[in-house]
Amino acid sequence: MRIVEGGFRVAEGGFRVAVVGGGPAGFMAALAAAEAGSGSELTVFDSGIPLATVLRTGGGRCNLTNASHGIRELAGCYPRGGKFLISAFSRFGPTETMGWFRSRGLPLVEEAEGRVFPRSDRAEDVRRLLETEARRAGIRVRARAAVDLVTVAGGVFSLTTRRGSDSFDRLVIATGGRSGHGLAQSLGHSITVLAPSLTALAAQESWAGKLAGLTLRGAGVAWHNEGEGVTREEGDLLFTHRGISGPLAFRVSSRCAFMQISRASPLRLSLTAFPGTHGAELEARLLALLAARPRQHVTSTVSTLIPRALADVLVRLAGLSTDLPAAQLSREGRKRLAVLLEGLPLTIVGREKGTEMVTAGGVRLEEIDPRTMGSRVVPGLFFCGEVLDIDGFTGGYNLQAAWSTGRIAGLAAGR
Ligand SMILES: Cc1cc2nc3c(=O)[nH]c(=O)nc-3n(C[C@H](O)[C@H](O)[C@H](O)COP(=O)(O)OP(=O)(O)OC[C@H]3O[C@@H](n4cnc5c(N)ncnc54)[C@H](O)[C@@H]3O)c2cc1C
Repeated sequence: MRIVEGGFRVAEGGFRVAVVGGGPAGFMAALAAAEAGSGSELTVFDSGIPLATVLRTGGGRCNLTNASHGIRELAGCYPRGGKFLISAFSRFGPTETMGWFRSRGLPLVEEAEGRVFPRSDRAEDVRRLLETEARRAGIRVRARAAVDLVTVAGGVFSLTTRRGSDSFDRLVIATGGRSGHGLAQSLGHSITVLAPSLTALAAQESWAGKLAGLTLRGAGVAWHNEGEGVTREEGDLLFTHRGISGPLAFRVSSRCAFMQISRASPLRLSLTAFPGTHGAELEARLLALLAARPRQHVTSTVSTLIPRALADVLVRLAGLSTDLPAAQLSREGRKRLAVLLEGLPLTIVGREKGTEMVTAGGVRLEEIDPRTMGSRVVPGLFFCGEVLDIDGFTGGYNLQAAWSTGRIAGLAAGR
């Protein structure tokens, strides 16, 4: 045994490991450190209630990973940090994560697009499992213990909370996307530009608000990115009172996280219910439908292709009367409709404040060893989770990054 500052006893060969941030990444790191280093003493500090963030994930159901991809394809679901994550995924990816939870008594189910949830549909069960495992591993969890200051001297980390200071041999920073960057900076790390990601988007067109509540499944959007040409994304889109939300809007917000979007500098989207289908093909389809029911109103014909409320919008935007009989539709009118079916202009003028799910940007990845999550600046320091410059789309990718980087950081910190 050796006695360290604060009077704690640590078995010879063990370390005192501190994890700052009791979210999914921090808990996974602490559990892995406990597994790696028998005799190590582990403390998790959280500024609020540990694992509170897990409870709101997946609408209270916790979409804890995504099972639909191989490692490289999975990495492609992270606009920032995907390449960096490949090493961690190859050691502790979705398969290992699902095995980890299942073997500890949490049955899982896979839903559409590979999204994985607890079978109980309760994020609470994920939180409880992590807490139980931490208790079993003898990890000390300190709630409402914000770490305000970290210093390092002679390989020893000194952490200060409002209750005082304590020293540790190893430090894992897992403070998430909203805070804690200052701690990393104070230890010599740099932080990239931060921006909200996975947000709802505000649209200029008033018709979008009139469709509030309508979901367009499997929709596509395209836009011009300066210097990059056309970017396309697909997914389900939800119209809101102020614009758009849902997986597709989140993907756009993620791809455009660092773009200045405002009324003066809008993001011009082209929206379609038929991604990958040419206007000529859509026009031919429309022609056949119009010919089959010449007495039907044009809006009714178009609504066999897209939801009625959206059909109404398209017909009006094409400058046509909604009760125009199909037989009276001119060639030009039909062409205008086909053009709108191929790409309906939607002008995005801002992000909806307070809707962001993750922060884009964080601790610069060049300063981190992807094989250990160890700092290249300070020996004995590790990072995991959203505090890093890593963020993914919706679908379980952000929690997977937390589990993978947490596990790798913890194994290295506890060794
Ligand atoms: C509404 C919502 C729903 C989401 N749903 C999903 C989903 O279903 N699937 C998915 O993959 N992702 C989802 N996400 C994203 C996911 O929750 C995060 O990416 C993930 O929680 C990041 O984990 P983390 O441990 O890195 O950080 P966090 O979960 O943010 O945890 C960090 C912890 O550190 C603590 N902390 C911060 N600073 C300090 C300090 N100085 N001292 C001590 N403690 C500190 C905080 O209190 C917090 O508990 C969702 C996000 C939101 C907002």
